[in-house]
Amino acid sequence: MSRYETERQVALQAVVEAAALCRDVQTQMGEGVLEKADRSPVTVADFGSQALVCRRLANAFPGDPIVAEEDAAELRRSTNDALRHQMLAHVRRAVADAASDDVLDWIDRGSHDGSASRFWTLDPIDGTKGFLRREQYAISLALIVDGRIAVGALCCPSYPLQDGRRRGIVCIAEQDEGAWETSLDRDGECASLRVRPAADQRAIRVCESVEAAHSSHGDSARIAQALDIGAPPVRMDSQAKYAAVARGDADAYLRLPKGPDYREKIWDHAGGVIAVTEAGGRVTDIHGRPLDFSVGRSLQKNRGVVVTSGAFHEAFIDAIAALGIGRF
Ligand code: AMP
Ligand code: MG
Repeated sequence: MSRYETERQVALQAVVEAAALCRDVQTQMGEGVLEKADRSPVTVADFGSQALVCRRLANAFPGDPIVAEEDAAELRRSTNDALRHQMLAHVRRAVADAASDDVLDWIDRGSHDGSASRFWTLDPIDGTKGFLRREQYAISLALIVDGRIAVGALCCPSYPLQDGRRRGIVCIAEQDEGAWETSLDRDGECASLRVRPAADQRAIRVCESVEAAHSSHGDSARIAQALDIGAPPVRMDSQAKYAAVARGDADAYLRLPKGPDYREKIWDHAGGVIAVTEAGGRVTDIHGRPLDFSVGRSLQKNRGVVVTSGAFHEAFIDAIAALGIGRF
């Protein structure tokens, strides 16, 4: 039995349960939500997912604090009764007797500041735009111990499986033990994750955010030109980009700062980082520094993120420095 075997199992069950809720919400979501700018499905799924994951963590590890994206302050307002009831109805499909106050308290377990030596970090729905577009989104959960990521569970409910027909994967990883992938519908098969072996640099496949506000598309095009990369980048929402590198569908994921002020949130990365590093890849910031998960809710000491299968990592970091990317 590995050191964090129990944590790994609980994390897997938690993200799988949350993913079922997200899929339910998406099934009931009207066709026109994007056009109407109706963000209620994502609100319902965000809060519901966080409630279910925090509940499982509280039951299994009552002393562990959680750094999660949401809190229940808005939901507690009487003006949000309708949203709260919708969210509760979805949570009760998993936990039939869940009381309203308990569900709000589960959500609020996520408000830790990240100062403990051991804590969990959760993004209940990463890539909300992808969720609304019915494209890629993720539920990302990780355990941080003494500033290192000990366990990660990254669920991408819309990621195509190897057979090309079904969708939904979960990447599970444990520090120094490896990374595995299983299908969300868990037919029992668990495959080891390995990054793609190094190929010709011109054949590198890069992925980046769909949202130009989250990562500079212009700077990534300059890097591609400098490195003589032929193919255009694959744009994808959420930490599914980490899954793409970990399972060898892509060679790199670039997140290039758009300005001097933004700091990456730990829940946007932790679950993905350990999947890639345990699959043999590398993750640093744009200056080549390791990501420091010991400084609170944000990656205060880092700028941007560079994820690669390993072989071309220095080439990306050198190109970023040579082009002056990230100097504002
Ligand atoms: P993605 O789906 O890769 O575009 O990333 C979605 C995440 O981007 C969200 O969860 C936000 O936390 C994060 N985000 C929001 N604003 C910014 C920004 N200015 N730069 C980088 N990431 C951001
Ligand atoms: Mg996010």
